[in-house]
This record gives sequence, structure tokens and C-alpha cells, in this order.
Amino acid sequence: MTVIDTIAEAEAKALNDKLAGLDLAGRLSLVAGLGGRVVFTTSLGIEDQVISAEIGTHRLPIDIATLETGRLFAETLALIDETEAQYDIHIQRFTPEKADIDAYAAKYGLNGFYESVEARHACCGVRKLKPLARALEGATIWITGLRRGQSANRAETPFAEYDAERHLVKVNPLADWDIEAIKAFVSDNGVPVNPLHARGYPSIGCEPCTRAIKPGEPERAGRWWWEQDETRECGLHVAEEASVVAAQ
Ligand code: SF4
Repeated sequence: MTVIDTIAEAEAKALNDKLAGLDLAGRLSLVAGLGGRVVFTTSLGIEDQVISAEIGTHRLPIDIATLETGRLFAETLALIDETEAQYDIHIQRFTPEKADIDAYAAKYGLNGFYESVEARHACCGVRKLKPLARALEGATIWITGLRRGQSANRAETPFAEYDAERHLVKVNPLADWDIEAIKAFVSDNGVPVNPLHARGYPSIGCEPCTRAIKPGEPERAGRWWWEQDETRECGLHVAEEASVVAAQ
């Protein structure tokens, strides 16, 4: 870690402590006013809809981006349009490169991600991680909808942390919200949400890699359900080393 990284880490820790004492609008307003390019990446999940609603309602200078992987549910695609219209915001779509998709299909098959963790990481690398890198180009702050209650490996999610790999500060303004608070916000404020949530999909990603969960299952049990590793993620929010491997 460089001296600059060490300074940035200390600043992120100070920001984390400030954010802890604010409500959601206060957290977003604070980071929007820090200067530099602030980017919020949305998957259109229920948490992310809360953040989009706040950005749109308060007209905050925060860029909104989504990773249009080419494998999303039709309901998710429709929700992008609906959210833009309701809040008069622009959600920039970042798509995978055709050459990358073709190379992946030639090596693994279009749906090769079911066959091995390596093949799955490679697909997420092409369809998510590389577009994410473009979405975050020039960003100083990256806002996400991560919550501690989403899974065991998100249980320690801070409000702000330095991402030394991407050289930016990652802000998670909903880190301490539980799902009931999220649902109450959505209901009280008429926030549009993905209809799949009501059909047993608390966490929604690409269509071939997401299933409904059974009562009592963890929120993210329907993501890559055929894999045994309980810490499975797509690489967007895991250790940088794994992200790099996946992106390759
Ligand atoms: S979630 Fe599935 S379809 Fe989407 S990028 Fe990852 S492996 Fe590919």
C-alpha cells in the first residue's frame, strides 16, 4: 500500500464516521458535495431503488449507472425505463463488448457458467466487471446499495471504505438498514420496484443465474444456487484479487 493509499484510507475512515450519524438523504448529500465524480451503480434491486428515489427527489449531482449484462429479466429492463420516467433521471447503461461475449461463448458456451466456478467468474467478468470498470472511470466516489443484512459476508459492510484497487472511496449508505426499513420506505414513498420481489426473488441478477428462494432461506440463496460456496458473489463487491481474476 502506498502513502497515498494510506492517506485515502484514513480519509475514508473519517467519512465513515461522519456518515454513521446521518440519515439517508444526509449521507447522499454529503458525498455528492465532496467534489469529483460520484457514481451510483444500480442493479434495480429494492435497495438500489431507494437510493435512485433519493437522488431523483433531491436532484443530487450523482451519476447513475447500471450494468446491462444482456441476460437481465424483462422486468428489470422495464424497471429501468419506469424509474427514469418517475424521477426524471438518466440511468446510463453499460453493456459488455460483443467481442468479449463471442470469445466467452467460443471457450465455454453461452451458458457455460453452470459448468464451473471458473466459467461463471469469467462470464461475470465479461458481462459485469469490465462494464463496471467503464462505469467507474474517473469516479472518486462509488455508491452502492449493499446492506449488512443481505448475507453473512456482507455483515461488516462499512458506510465508507477505500477501494485501493479502483482508487476510489466506496460508500454504502444503506449499510445499517434492514429489509423491513427498505420495504417501508418503498411503500411510504411510492417507489417502483421489480415485480419479481413479490414472486420470491429478494435478490435479482441475471435471469439464468437467479431463482426464487424458499421460505426461511437467506436473501441471496437464489443467486448462483448451484454453487456450494456460501460466500459466492459476482466479483463486484469482493476482494480485489478475485475481481481481477474474474475480469480476465
Ligand atoms: S450472473 Fe450469470 S449470466 Fe450474469 S454475468 Fe454472471 S454468470 Fe453471466
